Amino acid sequence: MRATRALTTMVAIVALAGCGERAQDRTATTGVGKVDGALLANGGDGRDWAMTGFDYTEDRFSPLKQVNAGNVSKLGLAWFADMPDARGHEATPVVVDGKMFVTGPWSKVFAYDAATGAKLWEFDPGVSKDKGVQACCDVVNRGVAAWKGRLYLGTIDGRLIALDAATGKPDWSVQTTDNSKPYTITGAPRVVKDMVIIGNGGAEFGVRGYVTAYDAATGAKKWRFYTVPNPSGAKDGEASDAAMEKVSPTWSKNGQWKQSGGGGTVWDSIVYDPELDQLYLGVGNGSPWNHGLRSEGQGDNLFLSSIVALKPETGEYIWHYQETPGETWDFTATQPINLATLNIGGQQRKVLMQAPKNGFFYVVDRTNGKLINAGQFIPGVNWASGYDMKTGRPIENPAARFYKTGKPFLAMPSAIAAHNWQPMSFSRQTGLAYIPAQSVGAAYVPPSSPLDGPKPIGFNVGQDLGDAMYPRDVTAVKAATAGATGALVAWDPVANKARWTVPYPTPWNGGTMATAGNLVFQGTALGEFRAYAADTGKQLFSYNAGTGVMAGAATYMVGNTQYVAVLAGRGGALPLSIGYAIGKARDVPNKPRLLVFKLGGTAQLPAAAAVAPRPTPPAPSGTPEQIAQGRLLFGRYCQVCHGASAAGGGVLPDLQHSGVLGDADTWKSILIDGALKDQGMVSFAKVLTPEQAQLIRLYVIDEANWAAKNLTDAAPAPNPGQPPKKTGVR
Ligand code: CA
Repeated sequence: MRATRALTTMVAIVALAGCGERAQDRTATTGVGKVDGALLANGGDGRDWAMTGFDYTEDRFSPLKQVNAGNVSKLGLAWFADMPDARGHEATPVVVDGKMFVTGPWSKVFAYDAATGAKLWEFDPGVSKDKGVQACCDVVNRGVAAWKGRLYLGTIDGRLIALDAATGKPDWSVQTTDNSKPYTITGAPRVVKDMVIIGNGGAEFGVRGYVTAYDAATGAKKWRFYTVPNPSGAKDGEASDAAMEKVSPTWSKNGQWKQSGGGGTVWDSIVYDPELDQLYLGVGNGSPWNHGLRSEGQGDNLFLSSIVALKPETGEYIWHYQETPGETWDFTATQPINLATLNIGGQQRKVLMQAPKNGFFYVVDRTNGKLINAGQFIPGVNWASGYDMKTGRPIENPAARFYKTGKPFLAMPSAIAAHNWQPMSFSRQTGLAYIPAQSVGAAYVPPSSPLDGPKPIGFNVGQDLGDAMYPRDVTAVKAATAGATGALVAWDPVANKARWTVPYPTPWNGGTMATAGNLVFQGTALGEFRAYAADTGKQLFSYNAGTGVMAGAATYMVGNTQYVAVLAGRGGALPLSIGYAIGKARDVPNKPRLLVFKLGGTAQLPAAAAVAPRPTPPAPSGTPEQIAQGRLLFGRYCQVCHGASAAGGGVLPDLQHSGVLGDADTWKSILIDGALKDQGMVSFAKVLTPEQAQLIRLYVIDEANWAAKNLTDAAPAPNPGQPPKKTGVR
C-alpha cells in the first residue's frame, strides 16, 4: 500500500517535470477561456478582437459599425496608458470579454481593463539586454495569441511562453531556438487545433529558418518545418525532410549558405486556413542577401521569399509559390497574408493576398499555389518589370543582379521595403486591400573588402556596408530624404490596380484596420491617428498622437460601446538604420503610449515635454585618413542601429549629438568595455580595437559638424537616449 502510494507520487512528479502533460484545463465559457477555433474561424460578432489579425483570415476587417463614416469625426480619447520603453511598438492588441492584452519592446506583456484602462497585470520575461544587438530591426514584438485560457508570447531570446491569461503567470516555457546563434522572435504566435505555431528571425546575421508547432496545453513539441535545406546535407528527422530533399538542387554545392544557414526565417506571417485546413508560412530573405556569395549565383534557393502551404497536424509540405527566385535584395515574403474569396473572371476563387517587400501585390490561388495576379503597388519598381503569368516568375531587370554585373544597383524598392511588417487589411465590404506602402530606394553594392564578410557582430548580408552611407553632398542627402515617401494604397485585387491612394511625405507609417462602418484606420509616422472612408479614401478623422504610429489598430465592444485601440511609438528597421530617410518624422518625439478611442471620448494626453537642446559637436580633429577609416568602420558595425551617416531616427541615441563625442575615455568604455551593455549596447571588442573605436569617434564628430553646417533645415531627431554622464561610467 505504502509502496503503491510512493510510486503514484513519483509518477505525478515525473509527469510535471516532463513538460506538464497534465496541464491544467483553463477553458471557460467567458474570457480568454472561451477562445477556440470556432471563434477564430470568423471572429464571432466582432465584440472581441481575439487574435492579432482579428480572425483566421487575418484580414483585420471588423464587422462593428457603431463607429462609422458618418460619426467618426466625434471619436475622442477614452483612455491611454504610457508604455515604459521608448523602442519600437509594433503589436496589435488582443481583446476578449473586456480585457486587453498587448506587448511592448523586450517582449513584455501588459493586461488592461479594456473599458477603463485599469492595469490588470504585467509580465516581463527578463530578456537579457545583450540580445538586442542580434535583433536586426529593434527589440520589438507584434503581439500575443489567445487560446483556451492562455496567452502565448514569443520572446526576443527565442522562448515561447504560455501565460495564464487571468494572472499573467507562466504555465510553461520552451526555448524554441539555439541561443548560441543569432535567432530572435518578434512575431505573434498563432494557435491552430491546440497547437502553437511559432517562427523566428535572424537572417541578417546568419541562421537557418524554421517554424515549430508545440502542444498548446503542455509545450510539448509536435513538429518542425525547416524552410531551407540542411547545409550539412543530413536529414533533420523533421516534418520538412521530404520537401528539403526536393528543393536541395535549387542550392549550390558550396557558397556561404553552408556556413550561414541560408536564412529563410518566418518572422511574421503564419496564417491558418480553416476552409482548406492548410497553414501558410511567409518565408524571409536569404542569408547572406547576396545570391552570388550565398549560393554561387546559382538556383532559386527554395523556399526563400516564398509562401509555403503545410498540413497543420503534421507540418508536411503541400505547395509553395516563390515570389522572388534567387532572392538577393532582402525581399522577404514574410509580410501579412490575408485570406479571401474573390470573384475573378466570373469564378469564386479562394485566394490569399500579400504585398511583400518587393513591390508586387500577389493574388495566389490557395487551393494549389498558382499565381492569379501580380501588380506593382508602388511607382518605379525597377528590379522586375512584371510577371510571366504562365510560369509565375518575375521578368527581371538584369542590372538588378549587382553581384553579376559588379556594378552598384539603385533599387526601388529596397530592403526597407515597399511594404514591411505593418499590417495590411482587406475590407469584405469594399473588396479593397489597404496597404501601408512606401517608396525607399537604396543601392546594392558588391562587397569591396573582406571586412564585409562574415563577422561575429553585426549584419552579414554580403554587401558593401562600409561604404554604403550618404555622400558628403547636400543635394544628394536632401534628394534621398525627399525621395523617401509613404502612401496608403487601396488596392483592388481583382482589377489588379490601385483604386485610390493617399500620399504621405514620409515612409514608415502605421498598419491598417478596416471596419464595416466604411472606415480604414491608420497611424502616421508624423504622429497622427487617422480614419478614411474605405470606399473613397476621403479623410474623416485625425488625432494628434504626439508620437509616430506604426502598429495596426484593433476594435472591440464592451457593454454598448465600441472602442478603437492602437499602440503609438516609433522604432523598427527604418528609424534605426536610416535616420535621414524618415524626414520630418525626426522632429516627432518618441513617446510610446497605448491609445484607446470611443465616440465622445474626452480624455486628454499631457502636454509634450520640451525637447532638450542638443550639445554642439566638438570641433573636428581627425585627419582625412582617420575619418575615412572611421567612416568605413561605422558603416560596417554601427549604421544598422545608429543610422547611415550617424543620423539617428529618434529610437537609439543620436550619435551626431552624443554628449560623449568629446570624451575619448568614455567613448572607449562604451564601445570596447561594454559600459552600457545593460541598455543593449554591447562591447564591440570582438571586432574593433580601441584605436579603431577612436577612429569611429573622429568620423562621427566630423559627420556631426558637416550636418550642422550643411543640413540646417533638417532638424535633428529629439534624442530619446540619456547621454551617459562621465561620472557613473566606470
Ligand atoms: Ca530581412
